[in-house]
Amino acid sequence: MTTIMNSSALVNEEESPESTDTMEGVEESESDEEWENIDEAVSFSYQTLCLFCTEVFNSAELMFAHCETGHIFDAFNFFKKMNVNAISYIQFINFIRKHKLSPSAVMHISTACPWSTDFYMKPFDLNDPLLVFDIEGYMEEKENERTDGKDSVTIPNSEFQTLMQELTSQTERLKNAYDRIDRMKILWVGVIDWLVSWVGCRFVLSPE
Ligand SMILES: [Zn+2]
Repeated sequence: MTTIMNSSALVNEEESPESTDTMEGVEESESDEEWENIDEAVSFSYQTLCLFCTEVFNSAELMFAHCETGHIFDAFNFFKKMNVNAISYIQFINFIRKHKLSPSAVMHISTACPWSTDFYMKPFDLNDPLLVFDIEGYMEEKENERTDGKDSVTIPNSEFQTLMQELTSQTERLKNAYDRIDRMKILWVGVIDWLVSWVGCRFVLSPE
């Protein structure tokens, strides 16, 4: 009897994880459906609203560039510092949209990410193009740009033209200096030839 009881208990134990799996499966398919419904409801305007003001832009890249110059908020550096990935990025966007924080308030978040909860996975604005933006691709691109840029300096075109003119004139001066050196060499060769022939004459004349 005991053995039978035990084996049935075992069967029950084995069944329970299966039933949990089924539950998870149901939950997943439900959430998939939810997302599908959300997808259907979304009609992206492609007008990206700034994270901090009412300005709109034709792309997320332009908006992030505006954040850098207009709000002194470097999205790339901030996302890098906060170790933002595809999921936490979406949470971050919804968090910002909901709480409308100032750039400095966001920048002062240094350790814990207050957006790291499932709550912020829910779109604050279904039409927000930032929610489907390829943040990982953007981060990779920026990383490469900034790594490449480390060995180069960006200067205004006018300054570049001035530097080029200076370089041309310095090259010209250097060429003139070499020309002078060449002429001096020829002169000295002439002087030495004359000296040698003079000494030679003296040597020939001296036995007399
Ligand atoms: Zn703005």
